[in-house]
Amino acid sequence: MNIFTRNTLWVLFYLFFTAGPLFVLLIGPLPPSRDFWTEFSAAAGYAGLAILGLQVGLTARFRAVTSPWGEDTIYHFHKQMSFIALVLIIAHPVILFILRPERLALLNFIEAPWRARFAAISTYSLIALMVMAMWRVKLKISYEVWHYTHIILAVLVIGAGLLHTVAWGFYLDAPLKRALWTGLAILWCCLLIYTRIVRPFLMLRKPYQVIATRHERGGSTTLVMQPVGHAGFPFVPGQFGWLNVWGSPFKLTSHPFSFSSSAEMAKETIEMTIQDAGDYTRKIRNVTAGKRVYIDGPYGAFTVGNPADMHVLIAGGIGITPMMSIIRTFADLGDKRPIILIYGNKNWDGITFREELEALSDRINLQVIHVLEQPPKDWTGETGIISSELIQRYIPAPYEQHEYFICGPNRMMDEIEKTLAALQVPLAKYHSERYHFV
Ligand SMILES: Cc1cc2nc3c(=O)[nH]c(=O)nc-3n(C[C@H](O)[C@H](O)[C@H](O)COP(=O)(O)OP(=O)(O)OC[C@H]3O[C@@H](n4cnc5c(N)ncnc54)[C@H](O)[C@@H]3O)c2cc1C
Repeated sequence: MNIFTRNTLWVLFYLFFTAGPLFVLLIGPLPPSRDFWTEFSAAAGYAGLAILGLQVGLTARFRAVTSPWGEDTIYHFHKQMSFIALVLIIAHPVILFILRPERLALLNFIEAPWRARFAAISTYSLIALMVMAMWRVKLKISYEVWHYTHIILAVLVIGAGLLHTVAWGFYLDAPLKRALWTGLAILWCCLLIYTRIVRPFLMLRKPYQVIATRHERGGSTTLVMQPVGHAGFPFVPGQFGWLNVWGSPFKLTSHPFSFSSSAEMAKETIEMTIQDAGDYTRKIRNVTAGKRVYIDGPYGAFTVGNPADMHVLIAGGIGITPMMSIIRTFADLGDKRPIILIYGNKNWDGITFREELEALSDRINLQVIHVLEQPPKDWTGETGIISSELIQRYIPAPYEQHEYFICGPNRMMDEIEKTLAALQVPLAKYHSERYHFV
């Protein structure tokens, strides 16, 4: 199946589960018809609820869902769909209040009937969830607290929303419709149960053990991990996994990290190289050999494998990790196709994997171009940030024949994506991995 057909099928599948439930309401005997805006408002409410219910599936890390698009695209889509759902859910009562202002009395939580209370709980929870998602950093809420709250609020939004529709009953009085919507609600619950209980349980049976740690340049630490009692999992260079170092896989606090080791070594060991970035990553440097950890993976579409005459890797700082996996895998396979690595860092001493890259340049067809923001006095190489002009100086035409991989700070990635678009490199020829998609 080609990419276009596969992606079209996914879009149709998504529409089936979001717009489909709305059309189910039109099956069979209909309740007495009302004016257009009242019906429109009801449709907005049901559509918003269906979109929110399926969000559980979008973020459930199903490989079949994420791999055609990439995890960051799915999270971006998840965010955009939440905005659409918010607009629909808020439009629902607002239209009703405009049509019949006396309904504003339903906002009195104490005196309102339960069906209105459920609506209020669902809507207020959704507003709180969106505010926290948009302004988490400004509100100084830690990622972990935000994550727990996000899940609780999401359950409240969907649970209370469903109770509101059942208690109001207008469209769901017919047994068939009630059964179909109940089925949908069961599906959402199953998705949640799978993500939070079944998958962690499966991971519990496939632990890994840290067998060595390496402190790298640039304030990062490499964890070398080995599967315990199982064969591990294969991955394609460029992919990542969710790492859980403290506690069981049932804990929410797993973080995404690219595999930095060669994919050829996956059966024996797997490595992740992690830079101090906050409360979780700071503790990684204290991890010692013997520690039991859990890795959920592999994920991501930032992968080699398409026909290309040359691979152009553009990395900023810790964005080198997936590139390192690509380069190490090429070395292990004896793949002699040319690779150009343009690698931006603050200074010479902080270049993660500097020496190993030098050594690998002798083994495979690898050209490394270091770009330093704060170069030493005697530096004759590239300086500043990785710019469009710099890229064009090093990459030979025809640009569309190469495959590009970009990973680093968002500002750098935006600039490079614009450059590649200007050079008429087709979208399918470049891959971006954004480390801050949440
Ligand atoms: C696909 C992918 C691959 C990555 N690979 C690497 C890698 O190889 N090496 C490396 O050092 N870093 C990598 N990162 C970044 C790394 O996941 C974050 O820096 C780390 O999770 C920060 O956690 P913290 O608690 O230390 O910092 P915090 O200060 O809590 O978080 C810093 C920022 O990291 C992001 N973040 C935090 N926790 C998570 C989470 N659980 N899920 C998603 N984003 C989160 C948030 O945007 C947050 O604002 C990768 C990120 C992604 C998305």
